[in-house]
Amino acid sequence: MTRTHGREYLAIPGPSVMPEAVLRAMHRAAPNIYAGELVEMTHSLIPDLKKVARTKHNATFYIGNGHAAWEAALSNVAAAGERVLVPATGRFGHGWADQARGLGIETEVIDFGKSSPVDMNRVADALKADKEKKLKAVLFTHVDTSSSVKNDVKAMRQVLDDLNHPALLMADCIASLGCDRFEMDEWGADVMVAASQKGLMTPPGLGFVFFNDRAAEVRSKMACVSRYWDWVPRSNPTQYFMYSGGTAPTHHLYGLRVALDMMMEEGMENIWARHDRLSRAIWAAVEQWGQGGSLRFNITDPALRSRAVTALRMDAPDATRLREWTEGEAGVTLGIGLGMAEPGTPESHGFFRLGHMGHLNPQMVMGMLGSIEAAFNALDIPHGSGALSAATRVIAAG
Ligand SMILES: *Cc1c(COP(=O)(O)O)cnc(C)c1O
Repeated sequence: MTRTHGREYLAIPGPSVMPEAVLRAMHRAAPNIYAGELVEMTHSLIPDLKKVARTKHNATFYIGNGHAAWEAALSNVAAAGERVLVPATGRFGHGWADQARGLGIETEVIDFGKSSPVDMNRVADALKADKEKKLKAVLFTHVDTSSSVKNDVKAMRQVLDDLNHPALLMADCIASLGCDRFEMDEWGADVMVAASQKGLMTPPGLGFVFFNDRAAEVRSKMACVSRYWDWVPRSNPTQYFMYSGGTAPTHHLYGLRVALDMMMEEGMENIWARHDRLSRAIWAAVEQWGQGGSLRFNITDPALRSRAVTALRMDAPDATRLREWTEGEAGVTLGIGLGMAEPGTPESHGFFRLGHMGHLNPQMVMGMLGSIEAAFNALDIPHGSGALSAATRVIAAG
């Protein structure tokens, strides 16, 4: 169906809504990649990326998506035959482990299921069992976008420190960066990966790897690292092409420059506060709907929920019916359930997700929630009342 009126809203957990200013910045002729404005502008991205990551250390970017950033980070610190530990709390934890296996890295996966955070005791046991301290890294998903669980990076650092285990703490912040509070240096993450199309409000196509001195030390002892993924020339380029290992992703960089300008102007604390408030408005509505129907949070405890995405479950096939109604009738596309049930099975129609990352304000969230309420009514799906006013009260409280 082609809609010719009104603005459509993609409320899935990435790609997220892109600001007009970001799109406008990309609409231009091809720039000179050897000298001039593009080169200067690219230099200016690095300090701002570090501010977003809350690190004083190194920032690199790659032409690629989040999967590329996963592989880039791994390629610098672990070789085929070496081992990593992966506490998995959803589809993305398993995805990173699989990416490691593709590089010949041995993975020890601890599966915490689809609705629970990492249990630090079990991770500590696995680290203690590694008597020779051979594990090179812990691949730790900050927010798993499939389950919407938020894991405690700082607590993971503490466990490694308490056991005096040298494994690098590598954080996947692809979903959380620019949405949920993340403090790379203060929390002690050695490596962090991110991508452009979520909290960073830029089209998919840029992956980011941040790393500190401990990680650089591990990299320096690697026998060899793929030329393309090697973060050494990218983090300290003596020629412009080294930033990107070849031709720069010119238009993405222009878009990113504007997205970072917007983020610097708002400030990280305000960005996190805005996501918190909008998340709480969504959760207040979900609570009310759940009172009179089957809608439930995938993560029950709000303290363990992400501010970037909310995973929900309800009696199948109502989740799919609801998504189809909001997309077809209201111009709001909600996220499918991911990793909860085999795609296409009857159960898979009992899950959906709300993306609330990046370029978002109260009227967008209220529009999305109002559309969901309309879908409940249009489809005669049982639901509790008072959801929209509960959400407005959160917005009104500021
Ligand atoms: C989106 C996402 C990925 C994958 O990123 P792609 O750009 O789709 O490759 C990995 N991890 C998390 C936590 C994500 O949210």
